[in-house]
Amino acid sequence: MWRQACPNIPSIPNPRGAILNFLKGVWGRGNSTLSTAIYSSEMKVKLLPALQDNYMYMIICEQSREAAIIDPVEPEKCLNAVKEENVKLTHILTTHHHWDHAGGNEEMCKLVKGLTVCGGDDRIGALNKKVEDGDKLKIGNLDVTCIFTPCHTMGHICYLVEGNSNAPALFTGDTLFVGGCGRFFEGTPHQMHEALIEKLSKLPDHCNVYCGHEYTVQNLQYALHVEPENKDLIEKMEWAKGRRERNLPTIPSSLNEEKLYNPFMRTSQPAVQQHVQLTDPIEVMGAIRKEKDTFKPK
Ligand SMILES: [Zn+2]
Repeated sequence: MWRQACPNIPSIPNPRGAILNFLKGVWGRGNSTLSTAIYSSEMKVKLLPALQDNYMYMIICEQSREAAIIDPVEPEKCLNAVKEENVKLTHILTTHHHWDHAGGNEEMCKLVKGLTVCGGDDRIGALNKKVEDGDKLKIGNLDVTCIFTPCHTMGHICYLVEGNSNAPALFTGDTLFVGGCGRFFEGTPHQMHEALIEKLSKLPDHCNVYCGHEYTVQNLQYALHVEPENKDLIEKMEWAKGRRERNLPTIPSSLNEEKLYNPFMRTSQPAVQQHVQLTDPIEVMGAIRKEKDTFKPK
């Protein structure tokens, strides 16, 4: 079983990605990254920093006060958030089976009776609702769509959460990070191309992206190695460093933003293709992931 946090890089959110929302800083407990919550009339997303650089998330339907938690690896912290918000926790949405994401599921089920534990992989602890691509769920009045994105692991699921009017929230686990993507532990460049380019890139551009780790700064260091002249990227890096210096998260970004600076979302861009001297987007995907696996910033 995977017993360590997935190796990767930190991330940064951008206010442009959440025009109708506003960001409120709340003190985290014993974690270097502060918790934040993103509010709208229908949905609240609470960022819960966990372990060294993981993020758990609580989504709340503001009308029914029902809630779900994405990847509750630290159950106690999750239950404190449930109490603080005074909500009814009904679901766990698991992105993938790695310990730093699914490792709290069993304990959560002991502490809260009747939880529906969703995921796309039989290796996920306490799983009682296996989901597939396109499956729909409800958290109160919020609609959740399961998006199968195998590659980092064979059973990885991203969750798209939508109300009637807000920007949708996309929970990407270790598939898409701010400025990067997860390692291809159990999949191929073709599968990551399908996940990022064929599926996630086709969702609405204003979708907010909530990923599984604070890897943004390291990801952007590699992105700058690929595209040193990219102005959006340079700007994002300045912003991200500023956030991290204040221990603030860099989550969320938006799909629109990711398309401007994330090399793994830009495999059809001439600048990215030139960097690896390839033109086929799937080959480009494979080549930049391979380079990133051993990249050390100067
Ligand atoms: Zn992982």
